[in-house]
Amino acid sequence: MFGKKVIIVEKHFVVGGLNSFFARKGRKFDVGLHAVTNFPSPSSGKASPLLRACRQLRIPFDSLNLYPQSTSRISFGNRDIRFNNDFDFFLSEIETIFPKEINNFQALLEKMDAFDAYSVDVPDLSTRAILNDIFSDPLLGEMLLCPTCYYGSAQENDIDFATFVMLFDAIFKQGLARPNLGIRALLDPLVKKIDELGVTRLMNSGVQKINSNHELATEIVMESGEIFTADQIISTCGVVETEELFNSKELNSTQTEEGKFSVIETISVFNGKPSDFGWDETIVFFNDSEKFRYEQPEGSIDLSSGVICLPENYQDPQNVDIEEARLRITNPANFSKWTSFKDEEYEQEKEKCESQMRDKALSYLPNGNIQKNDFLSATLMTDTFTPRTIKKYTHHANGALYGSPTKSRTGSTSLKNLYLAGTDQGYIGIVGAMLGGIAVANNRILRPT
Ligand SMILES: Cc1cc2nc3c(=O)[nH]c(=O)nc-3n(C[C@H](O)[C@H](O)[C@H](O)COP(=O)(O)OP(=O)(O)OC[C@H]3O[C@@H](n4cnc5c(N)ncnc54)[C@H](O)[C@@H]3O)c2cc1C
Repeated sequence: MFGKKVIIVEKHFVVGGLNSFFARKGRKFDVGLHAVTNFPSPSSGKASPLLRACRQLRIPFDSLNLYPQSTSRISFGNRDIRFNNDFDFFLSEIETIFPKEINNFQALLEKMDAFDAYSVDVPDLSTRAILNDIFSDPLLGEMLLCPTCYYGSAQENDIDFATFVMLFDAIFKQGLARPNLGIRALLDPLVKKIDELGVTRLMNSGVQKINSNHELATEIVMESGEIFTADQIISTCGVVETEELFNSKELNSTQTEEGKFSVIETISVFNGKPSDFGWDETIVFFNDSEKFRYEQPEGSIDLSSGVICLPENYQDPQNVDIEEARLRITNPANFSKWTSFKDEEYEQEKEKCESQMRDKALSYLPNGNIQKNDFLSATLMTDTFTPRTIKKYTHHANGALYGSPTKSRTGSTSLKNLYLAGTDQGYIGIVGAMLGGIAVANNRILRPT
């Protein structure tokens, strides 16, 4: 849009990265999409990050056809907090379920308002420590950690406060939505815009090496052997993964930590609608005990916490007459375990986990346990991906969902003309990745300071 000659090189044959799409048995699936966060609340006005991203990318917001969630829930044992896209409803839930904590909750809101989460030199603070300090009943803090960690923490069992503030706003104060077409509703207009602007877009084109003179990146060597040169380079493949491409290991930062948190997700396609089973909610974040567990398990899977998503329970009028729907279940998983299995063992373990995940998820859905046999009879197919799949298609070290715990807000690397954007810049999720890319393009490429 600003006269630069741009080339995009992507290793995969489809666009979207961690939030891409695929087809199985004639059906289209989104890889990751549970929710587009930051659905603009009436009070957010022009400040809404999603509206800002659309404005800057010159994509009409209405063309995304987003529909809001119904109600979602955080469920810890026998305690539930429900939320939807009306923040007052969430406040009333906190007041009803944790009446003694309402003033502390207001204090948290004030603390978050006063904190500049988007600043480039934001301090690295533990959210768990802050929440433990604020609340007398630690359970409320643990419950707030659950959706925010699942939608964006690169650390185990915690989330840095800046990311928490961004995600709290994105999930609870703004809201969750989904386009009927799924992630392609966001990807198609982006690709169209890129093509219209005359950007060269090369798919199936992995970068093999980034050569440098120790100050500047001088050459991008492709897996095909082809060489590109560029005045400036933006890398969105992750900090660890970008450093892996350097011709000299001396350029690697000693600070960079590898992310460990990965997941297994199983998607069951079933006959009918979720409401046929009495399931009206959109997303359920669950944890079996009062202490939230968000870590790489020792075994292949941790069933004690996870996320359940019913994508057909967004308020889309087209969902009224559907003949089949999906149940998505996500649990923490161990990358090394999943990559150590031989093919046959891998398939067997996947099958075992699928049924365990389904049983656990049903126990968190209304009358789920007693409807198990009906649900099984209605199930048309199941597809499951593991940390091994995430690594295979996105090349993220350890199949890490949210990259490295070491973030570079400015996007700087040890090479002056190479910047990071997306997850490892500290902007999380679909909207975060778009905003991060825009920020780097604006601040480092178009208006360098
Ligand atoms: C299961 C799952 C569920 C999710 N659910 C949601 C959700 O509901 N809502 C939400 O907002 N976010 C969700 N996310 C997170 C979201 O997908 C990511 O935050 C976002 O995709 C990060 O974008 P990115 O551009 O930083 O990196 P990525 O999406 O990881 O993109 C990196 C790209 O770099 C390419 N690449 C890697 N190495 C090379 C190389 N050497 N040469 C060329 N190309 C290379 C990869 O192929 C990939 O396309 C989910 C993620 C997963 C995995």
